[in-house]
Amino acid sequence: MYNVNEKGYYGEFGGAFIPEMLYPNVEHLRQRYLEIMAEPSFKEEFDQLLKDYVGRPSPLYFAKRLSQKYNTKIYLKREDLNHTGAHKINNTIGQILMAKRLGKKRIIAETGAGQHGVATATVCALMGIVCIVYMGEIDIARQAPNVARMKMLGAEVRPALSGSKTLKDATNEAIRDWINNPVDTHYIIGSAIGPHPYPDMVTRFQSIISEEIKWQLKEKEGKENPDYVVACVGGGSNAAGAFYHYLHEEKVGLIAVEAAGKGIDTGQSAATSILGKVGIIHGCKTLLMQTDDGQITEPYSISAGLDYPGVGPMHAHLCTSGRGEFISITDDEAMQAGLMLTKLEGIIPAIESSHAFAIFENRKFNPDDVVVVSLSGRGDKDLQNYIDYFKL
Ligand SMILES: *Cc1c(COP(=O)(O)O)cnc(C)c1O
Repeated sequence: MYNVNEKGYYGEFGGAFIPEMLYPNVEHLRQRYLEIMAEPSFKEEFDQLLKDYVGRPSPLYFAKRLSQKYNTKIYLKREDLNHTGAHKINNTIGQILMAKRLGKKRIIAETGAGQHGVATATVCALMGIVCIVYMGEIDIARQAPNVARMKMLGAEVRPALSGSKTLKDATNEAIRDWINNPVDTHYIIGSAIGPHPYPDMVTRFQSIISEEIKWQLKEKEGKENPDYVVACVGGGSNAAGAFYHYLHEEKVGLIAVEAAGKGIDTGQSAATSILGKVGIIHGCKTLLMQTDDGQITEPYSISAGLDYPGVGPMHAHLCTSGRGEFISITDDEAMQAGLMLTKLEGIIPAIESSHAFAIFENRKFNPDDVVVVSLSGRGDKDLQNYIDYFKL
């Protein structure tokens, strides 16, 4: 009911709205992805790399002081401890193995803040495959450390010079590249978005998160199911992975946390579930922030990873069906929550993840509720933001 159907839809959302010239590529992937993922040799290689290269399983940590403060039982799923510092690597490892089995020799990706670009360049270095990352010219200037990382990893970073010179323009360039190189190239999409089968494929690669939560919680609490799972949502991949094995456990509350930016009504926000209307972005039908005549609105959030005008189709469906509870958190609330986690638990979270921790100020839980929060990434990359914000 909450999984993708055979036509590639979650309720009314999803599908594959792509230029005709990309159809053979996307169709080839659609026909093969489930079969490839089910091959024992694929599973073996994927599991081995998650273990020895990424460092999985990531711990499920009982946050004692945070739990005391909010008078409920809070566990952190430590994706911040993964190699490269976030959950994104789970997906790029899966997709590079997929690309190899599809016979692809060249990888393209687009990136905004550079996190997905780095995760992609990392797996291309690991496999010795050519990597081209499209990035808006403005983002290249803003994200120098990640650009340097990608270059060190051997990727070519190509600037997108059109439009607002940010993420959506980089996406357009990547799609143009794919149209021109349909045979040898695989396009690694970084979140649970894009034309079918990407949202489902990315979700399955990230579903290792909830697969681990189940047995880890069983060890610690004697039961597989928490009362709530909480995750921040940009495109929605860490949330999709954290929710996946609980989608049909209706007693498990699924809480998706979006970036309200400076506030829902300020025009500087990325709270898609509230501000979005049905539209098409990145080849799928979903909730999308747009003007009355359907032009994509430039989103805003202090956290680069949540600064996205759409949301994955699975989440759009979780939102409109009522299965998911959507909460939006402002920049200020997120920054304070990030500092609090640091002081209470000695963990500096990515600002994306800080949004998920900010909900405890207003959303009350019972003392015996078990709440698992996806700590999607570590805050090292955000240090300058924290320095500027708190005048450290
Ligand atoms: C990219 C990123 C996100 C947002 O992406 P999703 O696909 O919504 O998970 C969240 N947290 C961190 C640390 C990220 O790097």
